Amino acid sequence: MGLLSLGKPLSWDETKQHAEHVRQHGINQFINLFKNLKDRNDKTLKWGDEIEYMIVKFDHKNKKARLSLKAKQLLDVMDSREQLEGSNRAVLWRPEWGEWMIEGTPGKPYGIDESNYSGGGSLAHFNVVEANMKSRRQEINALLDEDEALLCITSYPRLGTDDFSHPFTKPDPKNSATRSQFLSDDVISSYHPRFKTIAENIRERRGRKVIINVPIFKDSKTVDPFNETFDDEESDSASKTDHLYLDGMGFGMGCACLQVTFQASNINEARVLYDQLTPMCPIAMALSAASPIHRGYLVDRDCRWGIISASVDDRTKEELGEEPLNHNMFRITKSRYDSIDSYLCEANDKYNDILLTYQKCYYQQMIDAGVDPMLAKHIAHLFIRDPIVVYKEKLDQNDEIETDHFENIQSTNWQTMRFKPPPPQSGIGWRVEFRPMEIQMTEFENAAYVVFIVLLTRVILSFKLNLLIPISKVDENMIEAQKRDAVKRSKFWFRKDIISLRSPPEAAKCVEATGCCSDNCCEKSDSETTPFDESCVLMSINEIINGKGQQFPGLVPLLKHYLSSIELDVDTQCTIQQYLNLIANRASGKLKTTAQWIRDYVSQHPDYKHDSIVNDTINYDLLMTCNRIQKGELNPRELVGDNPRTKTNL
Ligand code: ADP
Ligand code: MG
Ligand code: MG
Repeated sequence: MGLLSLGKPLSWDETKQHAEHVRQHGINQFINLFKNLKDRNDKTLKWGDEIEYMIVKFDHKNKKARLSLKAKQLLDVMDSREQLEGSNRAVLWRPEWGEWMIEGTPGKPYGIDESNYSGGGSLAHFNVVEANMKSRRQEINALLDEDEALLCITSYPRLGTDDFSHPFTKPDPKNSATRSQFLSDDVISSYHPRFKTIAENIRERRGRKVIINVPIFKDSKTVDPFNETFDDEESDSASKTDHLYLDGMGFGMGCACLQVTFQASNINEARVLYDQLTPMCPIAMALSAASPIHRGYLVDRDCRWGIISASVDDRTKEELGEEPLNHNMFRITKSRYDSIDSYLCEANDKYNDILLTYQKCYYQQMIDAGVDPMLAKHIAHLFIRDPIVVYKEKLDQNDEIETDHFENIQSTNWQTMRFKPPPPQSGIGWRVEFRPMEIQMTEFENAAYVVFIVLLTRVILSFKLNLLIPISKVDENMIEAQKRDAVKRSKFWFRKDIISLRSPPEAAKCVEATGCCSDNCCEKSDSETTPFDESCVLMSINEIINGKGQQFPGLVPLLKHYLSSIELDVDTQCTIQQYLNLIANRASGKLKTTAQWIRDYVSQHPDYKHDSIVNDTINYDLLMTCNRIQKGELNPRELVGDNPRTKTNL
């Protein structure tokens, strides 16, 4: 039964009565999955990206841009195309939370049949990504009106201001699903009732509307102290001085993300990738920073993460620690949209140094069924949450072959990394999803970030790199990464010696070639020999990505050396070099991050009064400029370098 054939999900009052049922069967389903698929092997590296787009409508006469609420209209067309063309489609379109948003992925995952799986093989698919992304945009553009554009932007600058959408409905804080002062329910995807139910049930579970306070960017003429009053007691008491106050799910789930999923060759390799990419989450997020404006104001954060995390935070006052535990079972330290809490490989357990709240009874049940403790804890941790969307028709399931209850909880834990078991009876293997990155404006940039991460997985596996740091340090980095201009101004915990004792000799050679002293990096450099608390140091993103003299080889130099050691056609080689140059130059500060570029654009706009306010005219000009960049009519050197031209090809 597909999503569309299902009716309205249950209300919160009904849902909570079935929460235990959903969880218990979800655990049974996971156990069955694990038993049947734990030995599954896949020889093919498959991977794919997801890009979320926004549809913007320009009113050229009045110099005003609005979000165009027409996702359903577009999706209906795409659905009928998909029905006709099926698996032959180059691109797939899926709904997103906002009625102005749409998600595009490749029609099938990129696949590389490697005989020597982790040793390299053909990476020619790296040259297809950007072209596929371009074809996505073309397909939607052909359906848009002349005054509309499909834009890759992480946060819509004037979301929640007066008349920000087309059509526009006044918010209804008394009766709407979110109770937001700024966003009406009409901005929620009408593709399926589940989107509105998520918002409604999260608010009801929580017992009040969501609270999001983002530090305001203090410019020379910004009102100081910055306080807003709303004609509403709940908002007035929730909003903080010197912060921009937001109160609806749309402010978070309405941001766009860039995600990458990879298939591993087996469950153990998936765990390795899950763990090794975790320390990369804050680093990649800072490098991709792209969301400095919300509700018409410049904020003092460059990334969306904290906003989206708060926007779907369904914890009650008891779970938050604001009231004694009475009706709820746990204090919970993080939102269900947050950074991960534990590594999955047994060898990495020593880096699990933060409190992991988990359902002991499910843990025991999984242990008794033969699941190992690390994985059992991870799943039992995800299962401290209630389901938020439940369908009556889906309650009774055959746990041997169905997995909806497991997926229900799994897919509403929106963490930085996701460990994805194979769906039963499918050709799909054990996968890992990398979820922290923000959307870049152009296909060139988005492809560069995606390829950088996929390439990094190849190097991690081939060179047996070890990037692990204590998970508490990853959390510190997550906070740091969101700060304004973190790439230039912040330092991040990173592992000192990433070449391990198990690394093959080529890895050490690579490090030597990068000019890094082998004493430091290659010989006495395994987690077994380095004391835990000395395993990481503070580095800038430039040092992490480009290297630090003799002390640290740098990720881009490592990737470049790996590339020179494998067979690759000239065109792909040329394309990847340009992608890595973009990453290297963003890291060094030679090129601006998207967030920095947007800030500078606003700051230099004649209408900007240095009071942090991004008005309609600035918004219009900014988005028109973004549109020109995305159409290829304008090439801002300070953002992407000198006219990058890859040889991308479908
Ligand atoms: P999500 O639950 O994150 O929305 P999707 O099913 O939409 O996941 O897929 C996310 C990405 O995973 C897409 O880019 C898709 O092409 C890719 N993908 C699909 N099948 C596989 C596979 N077997 N291995 C790796 N990636 C895959
Ligand atoms: Mg998806
Ligand atoms: Mg995804």
